[in-house]
Formats: sequence, structure tokens, C-alpha cells
Amino acid sequence: MNTMSRKKIVAGNWKMNKTLPEAQQLINEIINSCVEDTAVQKIVFPPFLFLPAVSLATGQRNDFFTGAQNCHTHDAGAYTGEVSAQAIASVGATYVLVGHSERRQYFKEDSHQLKSKIEAVFRNKLVPLYCVGEVLNERKENRHFDVVGNQLSEVIKELSAVQLQQLVIAYEPVWAIGTGETATPQQAEEMHAYIRKIIAQLHGEAVAEHIPLLYGGSCNPGNAAELFSCPNVDGGLIGGASLKAADFLSIIASIKLLVNN
Ligand code: PEP
Repeated sequence: MNTMSRKKIVAGNWKMNKTLPEAQQLINEIINSCVEDTAVQKIVFPPFLFLPAVSLATGQRNDFFTGAQNCHTHDAGAYTGEVSAQAIASVGATYVLVGHSERRQYFKEDSHQLKSKIEAVFRNKLVPLYCVGEVLNERKENRHFDVVGNQLSEVIKELSAVQLQQLVIAYEPVWAIGTGETATPQQAEEMHAYIRKIIAQLHGEAVAEHIPLLYGGSCNPGNAAELFSCPNVDGGLIGGASLKAADFLSIIASIKLLVNN
């Protein structure tokens, strides 16, 4: 597959930031300043409470989508304080982040649970954006390939061909998230190529070539173009820089330039 024919995506993870008026202002500012271009999908992941309002705004465009940052494994029931994929689907969202490092680290989410979450996401006709990545010590001890390979295979090995057609994966080295320290384009490309190799071993070359692999970890307007120009990097999952319309728009512009040239 020509790498340019893979879906290109820029996604913004707003984490636990913004009030409702701020979230509405941010999405409107981004959408109004971004010319419609379906060659690059733009996804925003606001806090749960703002999903209906943000989905309403992104729903007006063919190139913008909204996603949730997490979901529960069950569709309904006595799980006080939790939010189901069924509820997320009902307010117009399209994507769900699964396995973000902050969920793994602070909420001890493991592969078993993440696999159930991905099942819940697909069951409700949503699309999972599955995050993998090693912590600093694992890289220092040269275990990063094994760690990422396991996070991947434990969760995606039993997915069906139809599910794999939709799946999106983000490689986010934990030591680069919110730290200002970014993986070099070489480090990102090396891991993305490895992820594609693991997918090919599990599900074949054609599936591996089809799945968009995003890079995440202190991606900003200054380093996005170089990271996105790596052959196995199909876009980015952006944290801090997605909270400022100008920065997010500039990151979108840098991938648009690559796609349209
Ligand atoms: C993230 O949380 O997914 C992320 C990539 O954050 P940041 O861009 O702030 O490192």
C-alpha cells in the first residue's frame, strides 16, 4: 500500500481541561479556522460532560469527529460514576481512546480490561483509538519493543477482520507525554515500523499496512512536520498543544502540507 493512501489523522486529547463555554469556544475556533479537507481527519477528545456540545459542532463537518477519553466495559448497570460506550454513542461521538498511559498509570488498567473496553467500543459501533507506549525505565533497559509488542498483541490479537479495518493505534512513549521531551523522528519511525511488523505477524501484511499509526508525546507546531514526514507515522495524538486553537491548527496544517504535496 502506498503510505499516502493510509488515513491521516490529527487528534486532540483535551484531558481534564476546560469548562463548557471554553470547550465550545475552542472547538468553534478550530472548526471555523480550518478549511474542510477530508484528506485529514480531525478528532477531538473532550471531557465526557462536553461530548454532546462538541459532537454537535463537529457533526456539521465531514472532516471533524468527536471521541471520548475512556469508557466502561459494560453497556449499562450499577457502576456508579462510570460512562458506557452505549451512552457515548448516543450523544453523537465516533471514537473512544482506550489504554491512554494516564489510564494505565493512575487507574491501573491492564490488557485484560482494555481488551474488554475495545469490545464494548466495537459493540456500540464506535471506533477505538488504542494507545501503547513504554515508560522511561523500560526504554533505558532496552525493553521498549517487548513492552509495546505485548501491549499490542495482548489486546488486538483476537480482533476480527472487520474490526481491524477500523482500528487506529497511537504510539505514545510515556516519557514524552506532557514532559516537553519528544521522541526523535528516528525513535518514532523505528517503533511505528515495529508496531506494523507485529500487526503483520498477527493479522497479515495487508491489515498492517492499512492501520493508521499516530505518534503522541509533546508533539507541537515546531516538531509536528518532521514527525509526520516519517513513512510509518500517519498523524498525531496531541495533548497540551491541542488546548490552544492556534497550535492545533498549525499541527493540522503541517500534515495537510505533506498530504497535499
Ligand atoms: C497525550 O496525552 O496523549 C499527549 C500526547 O500529551 P502531550 O502532547 O501533552 O505530551
